[in-house]
Amino acid sequence: MIIKTLMARRGFASLGALVLAGMLAFGALSATHRFAPPAYEVYAIRYGTLPAFRVSGLIAGADTSRRLDIAMMVWLIKGPDGRNVLVDAGFHRDSLVKRWRPTDFMPPSEAVARAGVKPEDITDVIISHVHWDHLDGIDLFPKARVWIQREEFEHHLDSAGTVKNRAIDATDARILAAIAREGRVMLVDGDGREIIPGIHVYTGGKHTFASQFATASIGSGTVVLASDNMYLYENLARHVPIAQTLDSASNLRTQTRMTTLASEQRLIVPGHDPDVFVRFPTPENGIARIR
Ligand SMILES: [Zn+2]
Repeated sequence: MIIKTLMARRGFASLGALVLAGMLAFGALSATHRFAPPAYEVYAIRYGTLPAFRVSGLIAGADTSRRLDIAMMVWLIKGPDGRNVLVDAGFHRDSLVKRWRPTDFMPPSEAVARAGVKPEDITDVIISHVHWDHLDGIDLFPKARVWIQREEFEHHLDSAGTVKNRAIDATDARILAAIAREGRVMLVDGDGREIIPGIHVYTGGKHTFASQFATASIGSGTVVLASDNMYLYENLARHVPIAQTLDSASNLRTQTRMTTLASEQRLIVPGHDPDVFVRFPTPENGIARIR
């Protein structure tokens, strides 16, 4: 009787241990599932070229005679779960096209479609900063949530779309304010935020008041999409700030920080360097898979 009770108790105890072990295993499994970021595919997508751009406008102190055909790009972060995130929206408005005369131009939405994603399937657009060549195309992606730093938004426009600082184009300000009224603008509060699983944004580049850049997990590592916080590979290679910055020291610190966030330095993608498509030549000219 006593033995039977002991056995029963032991049996109960081991059953309890089994259940506990099971719960722990399940917990570990779901924790892994919860915390492993999705492995994204990252692409630089070219939608045009600004020919013979003055390099001294990109690299502080560069020889004023240097010219470069710069790439106009957006960046696609393609998730395994139907999430399609763009970093920046490019430009498309007629007045801007006439004024800047890009060559090999197509609307950014068309360039993104060439990479296999329809404009209405873009779920999110991260705006690095409010300049026309990064924000103007925002109305091409009608369903996307638009992520921008709160300070960047509030410094440049008010909720009615009135320009507060002329770094933003007046038409672009009206469009962004209208999207905000639709409830699609997500204001980000500062540095080092994981706004989407596996996608972080960081500030400090100071290309504009609160410009940001993004990182994305690609499974084998981390890509940094610098946008104009680092115009060209040359900025990083020669440790030179961008020519257009509100704070050169902060810009240089931020470029150095990018090297700690990227799993390899070659995975830092600059904002306007045509060499991106030489270093990453596949799948085709104008669409570069970064890996
Ligand atoms: Zn730019």
